[in-house]
Amino acid sequence: MPIRFDEAMDGALRDLEAQGLLRSLREVDSSQGPIIHLAGVEVTNFSANDYLGLAATPELKAAAIRAVERYGAGAGASRLVCGSLAPHHRLEQALAAFKCTEAALSFSTGYATAVGTICALLTKDDIIILDKLVHASIVDAARLSGATIRVFPHNDLEALSKLLVWADSRRSSSAPGRRARVLVVTESVFSMDGDQSPLAQIVELKDRYGAWLMLDEAHATGLYGERRCGLAEASGVANRVEVQMGTLGKALGSAGGFICGSRRLIDVLVNKARSFIFSTAPVPAAAAAAEAAIALVQSPEGVRLCSQLWHNVDRFRAGLQNANSVPRSAIIPLIVGAETAALQASTELLARRLFVAAIRFPTVARGRARLRVSFSAAHETSHIDHLVDALNTANLQFLTDSF
Ligand SMILES: *Cc1c(COP(=O)(O)O)cnc(C)c1O
Repeated sequence: MPIRFDEAMDGALRDLEAQGLLRSLREVDSSQGPIIHLAGVEVTNFSANDYLGLAATPELKAAAIRAVERYGAGAGASRLVCGSLAPHHRLEQALAAFKCTEAALSFSTGYATAVGTICALLTKDDIIILDKLVHASIVDAARLSGATIRVFPHNDLEALSKLLVWADSRRSSSAPGRRARVLVVTESVFSMDGDQSPLAQIVELKDRYGAWLMLDEAHATGLYGERRCGLAEASGVANRVEVQMGTLGKALGSAGGFICGSRRLIDVLVNKARSFIFSTAPVPAAAAAAEAAIALVQSPEGVRLCSQLWHNVDRFRAGLQNANSVPRSAIIPLIVGAETAALQASTELLARRLFVAAIRFPTVARGRARLRVSFSAAHETSHIDHLVDALNTANLQFLTDSF
């Protein structure tokens, strides 16, 4: 008996719904910002990754419009064919200067960056070592690369150290010829927990065992370090991280992803990263907006926005009664536990015109569903206070063992 397509789809959706895991799209009919129009209702938005509030600033919009006027709406082709437009080259120069690396390469998304880069660097004869909580794009990339995958418990240096010893011995015993590569991948600030990796120690370890490090700074670029380059800068180890990854779609307010590193690394990616080669170049507007964002982040306005963001985060943490050990980050997880309870909490807040997304499996582990509160420099004091008040009166129980 053939499986009827419609029945299979219905079955899949029913299964998700029964587990509290059904998702659907909600239309936003406004620009991004602290207030958005969500399915026809004006709500205060605590779910975006636009941490500095740059997505809708006049500077980024003007840069995008100028790029559209000069270069058009579409890029026309892959970068290697005829789509390598001036805005992409200027963006990459700006990224490399910002991160103090020899070179940079931009991709259409952060997801495409992870997949293209990891698969360009590793084959089935290599080893990739991941923190348990790395982003799905890195997990997918690791699987696609065919490399042997090992996972260490979140931020567990001892477990990482053991895996590095194991990888090193396996490498030494491998057949002569190409020696196995060992790549460690972690994030600087974790996307669903807001905590940081012990970066300086990880760098020490990977150097000790001759492994390489790829660091995903998606939630740190623009926010950490004296120059706001990210956690690698803040930890003083930027020049020891072989592959620095980031996205243009979060604090930088635009869209796309990037790698910063040596000229050789970038040349290899141009030649081997399939998500770069076999994909139309990002639209010129996105590249131009991202370039404007990098300039803004490095200006005195960048300093001001960053301190406004931390001011908002600190105000929230000081006001919240029910959550222990909330880390200082633009992302604050309030872990509820059950998927349906997280959904219900989110719905309750929405009734008070506060939009805080419920994050569930597979984004986080089963039974670790949460409200993921994210902050922006564009939030006003009254927005923060409204949320604090709603959370304190909603009688929600949060798990205290946040990590
Ligand atoms: C968002 C995110 C990505 C993917 O970036 P996009 O530009 O949204 O595709 C990769 N890694 C981490 C940690 C992220 O949070």
